[in-house]
Amino acid sequence: MIDVQDLVVSYGTATALDHVTLTVGKGEMVALLGPNGAGKSTLANTLAGLLRPASGSVRIDGRLALIPEGRQLFPDLSVADNLALGGWRSGRRDPSAVYELLPRLAELAGRRAGVLSGGEQQMVAFGRALMSEPDALVVDELSLGLAPGVTADLAAHLAELNRSRGLTVLLIEQNARLAFDLCSRAYVLESGRLVTEGECARLADDPRVAGAYLGGA
Ligand code: ATP
Repeated sequence: MIDVQDLVVSYGTATALDHVTLTVGKGEMVALLGPNGAGKSTLANTLAGLLRPASGSVRIDGRLALIPEGRQLFPDLSVADNLALGGWRSGRRDPSAVYELLPRLAELAGRRAGVLSGGEQQMVAFGRALMSEPDALVVDELSLGLAPGVTADLAAHLAELNRSRGLTVLLIEQNARLAFDLCSRAYVLESGRLVTEGECARLADDPRVAGAYLGGA
């Protein structure tokens, strides 16, 4: 579903992704972990077609949507208009299916996105991504800047979409606990290179991974 082979992405002479190979199967929920500057957003933006690889390949079966780091909403537009922008490529303008999945957005529809809380804004970014009726979703830092309860609520929505609709998810996270709770497998990226990968249960027992990402050896 998402198939990345030997991907190299550079900014000028600086290599941000160095021969990265990663796959997410149809209906799978997979995590990508790594510290600041590891190249996670570079991978997300390359998958979304916003960056051009220097070499390697990216193959995506079906439609992919991105929830970008920092939400990237239009703060002066209403929630409804932000959602509509998510549907422009697919020609879908009617948000009712998204309101059904995320009822809070219907209540917020007329509000300016810029005045909402961080959690509400992340929900708008989530809804905007769903407007394109994606087969696969890349989530760049779901939990960033959000209170744990708010993150848990969004994570539950994500898990439900994965379970009920078979939505394929690549979850990019600094919060490894959240990622391990939600996902079956994970990749760990450091300085542009994949350093380890595997089942979350196995990675959580790996002292190097636990020490660096779970706050204990
Ligand atoms: P964070 O969680 O802090 O966003 P990240 O893992 O998403 O980190 P990237 O944002 O992909 O990492 O950055 C990877 C590397 O590429 C870093 O060294 C960063 O400084 C560099 N980089 C990112 N964007 C650019 C850019 N537009 N121009 C030049 N270098 C960049």
